[in-house]
Amino acid sequence: MNKIICIANQKGGVGKTTTAINLSASLAVANKKILLIDADSQGNSTSGLGIDRDIAEKANFYHAMIGQVPLDAVIAKTALRNLEVAPSNQDLIGLEVEFVQLEDREIRLREILKPLNGIYDFIIIDCPPSLGFMTVNALVAADSLIVPLQCEYYAMEGLGYLLNTVKLVKANLNPNLALGGILLTMFDQRNTLAHRVTEDVRQHLGDKVFKTVIPRNVRLSESPSHGLPVIMYDSKSRGAQAYMELAREILRGEML
Ligand code: ATP
Ligand code: MG
Repeated sequence: MNKIICIANQKGGVGKTTTAINLSASLAVANKKILLIDADSQGNSTSGLGIDRDIAEKANFYHAMIGQVPLDAVIAKTALRNLEVAPSNQDLIGLEVEFVQLEDREIRLREILKPLNGIYDFIIIDCPPSLGFMTVNALVAADSLIVPLQCEYYAMEGLGYLLNTVKLVKANLNPNLALGGILLTMFDQRNTLAHRVTEDVRQHLGDKVFKTVIPRNVRLSESPSHGLPVIMYDSKSRGAQAYMELAREILRGEML
């Protein structure tokens, strides 16, 4: 059985894609077989893993979502043997409108993932910055949710909406969905506000917060432009070490 993890936060630029790519890569290095689904029309997980968004134009995640091809037909290999990706590009933008009339549009992703059951240890879904159609599909398909929170003043703003969406999805479409954990990202040791935000989040959300904190690290922001996860770009960097630690925390099973 594979575990399906959705990485979501409707706030933009909080580290969803960085976490999706680097958690996937760290789990792959730990000998787990991983499929990363790029569920965002920005295609950042796709290009960040060195896959040309134009090459993905022929058949990509969008074509699997509309039922034109099976999902396994669009899966691409990456530089890491255990890590594969379902690539996306701007094709996904139209999907929500195309599906407006469809009755069971929220369970589409869950349905197309079914034939892959047993092939991967983890399927990780990188969501777009919205609580719309794609994120709801991901929440319906997932066993567990990771919410990256940037260590800044407005970190928790909007978290209530996300948790409310989770509640609705749980009540109506996916009773198995668990809040796997809140992940603090882009932590800057020298910034007193970051320390205060961290304390605040831990106080409010307690054991729902991963022990691992992802530091602000320039290697993490550079590696996508080389089409590599940070573990292959600079394995000794603090960013690479932090995502390895997160993978270990998840594999110990304490959170998810
Ligand atoms: P979007 O909502 O647009 O999909 P996102 O939540 O996926 O954004 P990312 O793309 O992962 O966020 O990160 C936003 C920017 O911050 C990127 O340029 C990324 O390289 C950078 N970044 C993310 N995490 C870190 C970090 N820990 N240290 C330094 N830079 C980071
Ligand atoms: Mg992203």
